[in-house]
Amino acid sequence: MSERKLHPSTIAIRAQTKRTGQMEHSTPLFLTSSFTFETAESMRAAFADETDDNIYSRYSNPTVDEFAGKMALLEKCESGFAVASGMAAVFSSFMALMSAGDHIICCRSMFGGTNTVVTKFLKRFGIEHTMVDTTDISGWDAAVKPNTKMLYLETPTNPQLEIIDLEAAGAFCKKHHIIYNVDNCFATPVLQTPADFGADLVVHSATKWLDGQGRVLGGIVTGGKDLIHEIYLFCRNSGPALSPFNAWVLTKSLETLDVRIHRHCENALKMAQALENNSKLSGVKYPFLPSHPQYEIAKKQMKAGGGIVCFELKGGIEAGRKFMDALQIISLTPNLGDSRSIASHPASTTHGKLTEAERESVGITPGLIRISVGLEDADDIIWDIEQALEKC
Ligand SMILES: *Cc1c(COP(=O)(O)O)cnc(C)c1O
Repeated sequence: MSERKLHPSTIAIRAQTKRTGQMEHSTPLFLTSSFTFETAESMRAAFADETDDNIYSRYSNPTVDEFAGKMALLEKCESGFAVASGMAAVFSSFMALMSAGDHIICCRSMFGGTNTVVTKFLKRFGIEHTMVDTTDISGWDAAVKPNTKMLYLETPTNPQLEIIDLEAAGAFCKKHHIIYNVDNCFATPVLQTPADFGADLVVHSATKWLDGQGRVLGGIVTGGKDLIHEIYLFCRNSGPALSPFNAWVLTKSLETLDVRIHRHCENALKMAQALENNSKLSGVKYPFLPSHPQYEIAKKQMKAGGGIVCFELKGGIEAGRKFMDALQIISLTPNLGDSRSIASHPASTTHGKLTEAERESVGITPGLIRISVGLEDADDIIWDIEQALEKC
């Protein structure tokens, strides 16, 4: 590209892989399921892995590769493979690298889908798991077994926004020679790059902040060449391919990632500060508020606090529902990482089927509200929350 070592915001815009020969300025969309060969010999060579020609879009596609290539650069990893959703990324990173008889250590707070995959599906295929305390790393050594293959964690966690010390977790994996796999969905590479702390794999739901406008589903795994090659072989044969159209949307989104994430964080910090002393709330949680229990770690490893703010309503479950109904601008929808601000009330929705005790055990309190702070004017969305709080 250029002689200069480029900044990530420049890479997200300028890194490109294949061009069509038409000198197009922006990323072309290769909506094709397969690729042609001029001769039997060139087709043989492609199938024999003697060339890197595209064969079939379940294996590779130039538009998908452009997205994966940019993400690998942004995550400071050698290589990447893009898939159809965040869960496809998480699942492939497990299935490609673990076998029956292996053991995985996971932090107790993690995305619901990931929790189900680990506790229900991996178990059926003979892969055992141990859940460890999310923030107390001192107890993790006791969870290690001779067959431990991988540590899996996310930070910040969803929805409690706990922060795990990526450097300490990296030292733990190095000491025990296990694969260090981090879901970097909540922070994005704009705020933290787990590879700096020794992460072997970084997975993402591209559906969230990477797309950033609630348009498409997508996922990506980045890491060292050898591990990603294993994931490629698993995906090439099992089929969670990312649609080239979705990859094209995601590549377009990456061009504004840096600008968007900083604005999301600015709005979120303003919101957290504005709500901190609101009399209807018993607490506000945001990684860059000094009151956050892991504030020091957050400051050490993140460039800003992220786009999610959580707070607890004094009035419990009923107040939570009233609050949601009183919102005038903010959307009620089960997504996050959108230009539109989104509110969710886990106790009456995603965790509504659990008993109160079960909810408490996974950190879901009755009045917990999670706001995915959008790109609207901060004053407008803070106004919306404050007027809704008045009504409950
Ligand atoms: C949403 C999410 C996922 C799953 O991603 P999908 O694109 O919905 O499959 C995984 N991890 C985290 C932290 C998420 O928020």
